[in-house]
Amino acid sequence: MVTRVPPEPFRIKMVEPVHVPDQQERERALEAGHFNMFGLKSADVYIDLLTDSGTGAMSKQQWAAIMMGDEAYAGADSFYSLKKAVKDVLGFDYTIPVHQGRAAENVVFGSLVKEGDVIPFNMPFDTTRGHIFNAKASSVDCVIDEAFDRETPHPFKGNVDIAKLEKALADNRGRVPFIMVTITNNSGGGQPVSLKNLRDVSAVAKKHGIPLLLDAARMAENAWFIKNREPDCRDMTVAEILKATMDTADAITVSCKKDPLVNIGGLVACRTEEMYYKVVPRVILFEGFATYGGLAGRDLEALAVGLREMVNEQHLTHRIAQVRYLGELLTEGGVPCIQPIGGHAVFIDAGAFLPHIPQGSYPADVLSIEIYREGAVRGIGLGALAFENVDEKTGARTFPKLELYRLAINRRTYTNSHMEYVAETIINVYNRRDSIRYGLEITYEPPVKGLKHFLAHLRPKNL
Ligand SMILES: *Cc1c(COP(=O)(O)O)cnc(C)c1O
Repeated sequence: MVTRVPPEPFRIKMVEPVHVPDQQERERALEAGHFNMFGLKSADVYIDLLTDSGTGAMSKQQWAAIMMGDEAYAGADSFYSLKKAVKDVLGFDYTIPVHQGRAAENVVFGSLVKEGDVIPFNMPFDTTRGHIFNAKASSVDCVIDEAFDRETPHPFKGNVDIAKLEKALADNRGRVPFIMVTITNNSGGGQPVSLKNLRDVSAVAKKHGIPLLLDAARMAENAWFIKNREPDCRDMTVAEILKATMDTADAITVSCKKDPLVNIGGLVACRTEEMYYKVVPRVILFEGFATYGGLAGRDLEALAVGLREMVNEQHLTHRIAQVRYLGELLTEGGVPCIQPIGGHAVFIDAGAFLPHIPQGSYPADVLSIEIYREGAVRGIGLGALAFENVDEKTGARTFPKLELYRLAINRRTYTNSHMEYVAETIINVYNRRDSIRYGLEITYEPPVKGLKHFLAHLRPKNL
């Protein structure tokens, strides 16, 4: 059964024409882009669901705020608008703007993590994982086992398994600079973390005297899921739940290109002067002075408005329902999707979609090519190409448990009928899946660990 989606809680003031490339243009684009979705030009894509990062539409209030930008190098009004929005919406006293999420990671991991450290996570996002490697540290996944089971309809598949967390802390005593939880758990299918679980993790962190950090890119969606799935929180507003979520943490890193509704921006926020002064030198080294962090004053203003808009319940209800609508259309068409459907994206189980393609031949990325061929729709493979580990000495490959293909839905950008087109496109590919008989090999690979899927050149190879 496909659930009806509430109509869009906005009307369209300005249109952005998009072009549907024909079959020949698509083939040329694939060749030119080395069969990597990151290599395609936007002009060659009809519906672009590569990422929901920075791709949303800003409101007229945000565009108006841009005109209020104060471009002073230090102490700009726009910084104080942002600082006040962070305090009002999230409750943190110390705010550091940065240009995007990974910049927040660079600042925090580069300042607080040293070689040999271990960071327990539910699961780190891919850029976060990159920064952990970069700091010569490692992470331990402590997410509950249900996260790896496609069918189990657990309401909070992003939760931390407290026993696993306690074990990670016991195994790595003295080497854990902080615990980190990703809300929602992007790498595990955009699955939420409950408020109770965050409180339990926070209690463990306090007991051990270790800070708890949140990777909070999708904190508003996470709060919406809590309101709708955690019985104790039913009568709270999303804004209240978000505040309670933040109360569990000592600091956050945020990609503001996600829930906070801006095209560029990021944040580090924390509670103490001590932590602020530990991280701020690295902001000045890599981003810019502490009150602008690599952003223009106008960007800070748009972000201050976006932080307040992101907790609007009609916005969140429509957005999450639209993502679910696409997921349900696909599921009804037989396409194996991660259940329940996550907040910002539909994740297709590419391993189950193309079971005849070995994981070492990158089935998720074959699927992304075939879906582009079929309908000029761009999604992204998040499987072996992104997450395999290749032993430096032996060359032995270990593959991730899930071989996923992701369709990330941009905020306030596409209509429900665009979702219907995407579903039809993918169901057409599903119906001809047995005829897809090739894998991919890598012809160029970047020298930096963890970045392969962004930059790899690929070539189809018959199986
Ligand atoms: C997008 C994202 C990041 C990285 O942020 P960028 O703005 O892309 O640099 C980190 N963590 C999570 C959970 C994300 O979704």
